[in-house]
Amino acid sequence: MSFLVERITSHVGDVGGLPIQRALPNKGRRVIGAWCFADHAGPATTVKRMNVGPHPHTGLSTFSWMIEGEILHRDSLGSEQVLRAGQVNLMTAGHGISHSEESLSDRIHLAQLWIALPDAERERAPSFQHFPELPHAALGDGWDATVLVGEFADQRSPVPSFTPLLGVDLAAAGPACATLALDARFEHGVMLLEGEVDVSPVGHDAVETVAPGTLLYIGAGCEAVELRCAASTRLLLLGGEPWATPPLLWWNFVGREPAEMQVWAEDWAREDGGRFGQVQGYVGPRLPVPLVPALRKPD
Ligand code: MN
Repeated sequence: MSFLVERITSHVGDVGGLPIQRALPNKGRRVIGAWCFADHAGPATTVKRMNVGPHPHTGLSTFSWMIEGEILHRDSLGSEQVLRAGQVNLMTAGHGISHSEESLSDRIHLAQLWIALPDAERERAPSFQHFPELPHAALGDGWDATVLVGEFADQRSPVPSFTPLLGVDLAAAGPACATLALDARFEHGVMLLEGEVDVSPVGHDAVETVAPGTLLYIGAGCEAVELRCAASTRLLLLGGEPWATPPLLWWNFVGREPAEMQVWAEDWAREDGGRFGQVQGYVGPRLPVPLVPALRKPD
């Protein structure tokens, strides 16, 4: 079975004063399954701490995987949670939530991803969940896997998802090699965080060397992949069932139509935050809706 393999180059951005590399969405690739946004920050000692004031979300779960450092999350449900290394925060916006994020440490290494909600779940009530521990598995020769979402190497993550989804952190302290079985119904991405890895999707006739700033996309139909590194390396393996029609993203909103984005933007502009409510305990201004030309559907 043939499948597509594509190299995706991250673009550089800024989140609340923290430099990030954004792998998704990208001009050539907007989603991997329901994963519709993928930022990587660090590893770095920051000059200025991250401070993201209250801002709204709809139609998604924000998924924060902390590798080094600490971040304080607050939201309009009254949640207040410090996220530490090895932990996951999952905030499901449903029809609307607002939150703030502030780093509490100078050293930071973080992956922040968004998971689009399917039609049946996107108007659900908002929720926030903290996962202090995730299951681990030793793989092949030298890889340590942390199962972040879904099922992998006979381990199941406690992090729920509303569509078939996979998220695994794979770390090696030195030379490592393993062949991983993949769910061929899923499309996958290998997103490098540190080091360098040679990726050999079984059935693809080239070895792809991938470094930070690059995500290797592997289309549905691939049943296994070999990962080989020569030195300390860390990556995320993301996967999910392909969506017939990818969701629409604008600012912090995930939806289907520009018209609903307009309604949400107007709601957030209200003094009481409308459906998004107000973040409790944060000192500082809310983020305003950016001024943009007419919202339009991507081609
Ligand atoms: Mn956010």
